[in-house]
Amino acid sequence: MTIKTDLIDWPAKLDLALLPTPLQRLDRLSAKLGGPTIWIKRDDLSGSLLSGNKVRKLEFTVAHAKAEGSEVLITCGGLQSNHCRATAVVGAQLGMPVHLVLRGTLDEANNAELDGNLLLDHLAGAKVDYYAREDYQKNLKNILDRVKEDYRLNVQKAHIIPTGASDGIGLWGYVAACKELAENFRSNQLSPDLIVTATGSGGTQAGLTLGAKLYDFGCEVLGFAVCDDNAYFKRKVTADITEFKVRYSHRFNDALASTDQDVFAEALMAIHTNDHYIGDGYAIASDDVLESIIMLSRLEGIVLDPVYTGKAFHGLIQEIQQGRFDHLKNIVFVHTGGGFGLFPYKDRLQKLMT
Ligand SMILES: *Cc1c(COP(=O)(O)O)cnc(C)c1O
Repeated sequence: MTIKTDLIDWPAKLDLALLPTPLQRLDRLSAKLGGPTIWIKRDDLSGSLLSGNKVRKLEFTVAHAKAEGSEVLITCGGLQSNHCRATAVVGAQLGMPVHLVLRGTLDEANNAELDGNLLLDHLAGAKVDYYAREDYQKNLKNILDRVKEDYRLNVQKAHIIPTGASDGIGLWGYVAACKELAENFRSNQLSPDLIVTATGSGGTQAGLTLGAKLYDFGCEVLGFAVCDDNAYFKRKVTADITEFKVRYSHRFNDALASTDQDVFAEALMAIHTNDHYIGDGYAIASDDVLESIIMLSRLEGIVLDPVYTGKAFHGLIQEIQQGRFDHLKNIVFVHTGGGFGLFPYKDRLQKLMT
């Protein structure tokens, strides 16, 4: 390896997540599918209420917000956003007010009651504003700016965290996760052939794609889209990595001094997404996806979620069953959390299990 990764000049970070998370080999699942050996990176164990991938990004994003003197966190997402829930809980843990701008109104939700992540948003004391779907989609930037301006008029500096904390700052979260994975791989004497993640706002995929180059994993990172298409993710992941490079490439001067390898350019050429398993749209899970969730729960005692990990995992097993990965020995699936999103699906799950 020519990149001296121990010389990376890391930015400020808060210790919020329970790390490192375990890497586990799924023997029963691998035997059942008869394809490559499947490993799972348990980022669903990164915390209790903070569970999932968002807390890794928030460690850097919120450190950045605090360093610039912000006292309030504003962010946005769907009604069952894991990112909004993680931000609400982080805010409560740090004593920072959190203001959430959510897409959808309560009567648009599966049921008119608080459930899953939305219940936790309220428990954690976040201020929650609901916007009708169209209004949100058309005017999100204006809405966020207006909320921020209201705090400013009240002499409070607020920081807007973008959807999923997916930008050049949040990207550090999965660069750091790759440092951890490098250690997981070493201790398991594992050289993976493919790393798989669900991809939604693209930041996890972006961080893994860049981190895989920095830490020389020598394998592809593949995002299974849960919304939007391959062209969208190519643009979004490119934008996040490019913003990261502009902001932080000086922090890699020492690490890259002894090589003329351009890791940023290599990462930009290695953006791979599969958009065949989105189904009917974001946060709409088919019975097939729910069946895969039930199957893995029973086979390995690991629970996935209907919006992200269940869809990505369902896509992965379809691809394995179609023989697309027959040439691979080891696949690492990153379990990005989301379990609270199961609860609004309880009625459909109950029907499938009886
Ligand atoms: C947000 C989320 C993802 C997708 O991560 P992005 O960085 O937004 O692409 C995957 N899984 C879960 C459970 C999530 O909450």
